[in-house]
Amino acid sequence: MENALLEIKNLTKTYGEGEGKTYALNNVSLSVKQGEFLAIVGESGSGKTTLLNLVASMDRPESGSILYKGEDIVRFSTRKITDYRRNEVGYVFQFFNLLNDLNVLQNVMIVPGSKKNKERALSLLSRVGLSDKLDRFPRQLSGGQQQRVAIARALNKEGSLLLCDEPTGALDAKSGVEILKLIEEIHNEGKTIILVTHTREIASMATRVIHMKDGVIDSDIINEHPVKAEDIAW
Ligand code: ADP
Ligand code: MG
Repeated sequence: MENALLEIKNLTKTYGEGEGKTYALNNVSLSVKQGEFLAIVGESGSGKTTLLNLVASMDRPESGSILYKGEDIVRFSTRKITDYRRNEVGYVFQFFNLLNDLNVLQNVMIVPGSKKNKERALSLLSRVGLSDKLDRFPRQLSGGQQQRVAIARALNKEGSLLLCDEPTGALDAKSGVEILKLIEEIHNEGKTIILVTHTREIASMATRVIHMKDGVIDSDIINEHPVKAEDIAW
């Protein structure tokens, strides 16, 4: 595909053995263009998180390939995987996954193994509206604020890919919309976004929506009229 940032081919991931064997992903193929905003919807257990984890190289498939900028990350050495995760992909989780013993600034500054860049972390925290909370610890923040820290951390990478797994799943509607507005802005600035959600209304802000069922993609639709984040209610 022209301008493909990601080309996933025949990806299969199973869990368990024999009778209990589950196909979390069953021969999935998918291309994602640079700058696309892709939403993935589907019931719980349909394989959405498994797919994101494989794209983030946090897990290995049984078979298939994932080309990122033309290179197969499935066949990367451990060293290249580390570089890829450190530099290329930002990941935002439903439950924030901040380090509880580090304050806000440290959570954003610490990208494991890379040089700490305080100026950049400060500017990202200003961007998500948390300049006055730098010394706070995660437990001293609301859920919405913790997720904003996690987004600042995910943006502290040079790469072009942002993965979000149910990023508003643990938030009330008001802070949820604030998070969606940030994601929308990040997309408008040119990042490629893959957003997992089981809320159809949230998926309607994406430029393309795929639906997963039992480890396969059963529909893939271009959304000509994405809804603005501020107009989303669920
Ligand atoms: P979703 O994110 O869409 O809810 P998942 O990708 O988490 O779905 O899970 C897909 C399938 O794989 C489910 O049947 C789930 O039970 C199974 N699964 C996911 N992770 C594991 C694991 N670590 N061990 C065993 N089964 C798993
Ligand atoms: Mg999931």
